[in-house]
Amino acid sequence: MRRSLVIVLAVAVLMLLGIIYYALDPSQSGVFPRCTFLSFTGYKCPGCGSQRAIHALLHGDVAAAFKFNALLLISIPWIGLCLFAEGVRLRYPRFYDRVNAPLLIWLYLAMVLVWWLLRNIFNW
Ligand SMILES: [Zn+2]
Repeated sequence: MRRSLVIVLAVAVLMLLGIIYYALDPSQSGVFPRCTFLSFTGYKCPGCGSQRAIHALLHGDVAAAFKFNALLLISIPWIGLCLFAEGVRLRYPRFYDRVNAPLLIWLYLAMVLVWWLLRNIFNW
C-alpha cells in the first residue's frame, strides 16, 4: 500500500514537471534554476542543457534535445530500464542485480566523466 502511494506521488510529480517543462521554455523563462557549477566555474557540468533538452523532447524535437544534452538523451533508455528493474525487483531479483551490476554502474560513471570532459573541450 505504501509503495503504491509512493509510485502514485512520483507519477503525479513527474506529470506536473512535464506540464511545466512543456509550457515554459527554460532558455526564455527565469523560473528555472541556473547551473551552479557553470555559474561558479564557467565550465559546463554533465547536466547542463538538460532542462532545455527536456523542453525540446516534450515538443518532439529530438535533434534539439540531443544538441542541448546528448548524455540525457542517451541515458533515457537506461533510466527507464533501471526504473523497470526497480519495479520488478521483488519478482525478478536476478534481473535487478544484472541491471545494477557494479561494472555497469562504473561504466555509466565513466561515460558521464568522459562526456563532462569532452563537452568542455569541444564546447558541446
Ligand atoms: Zn550544469
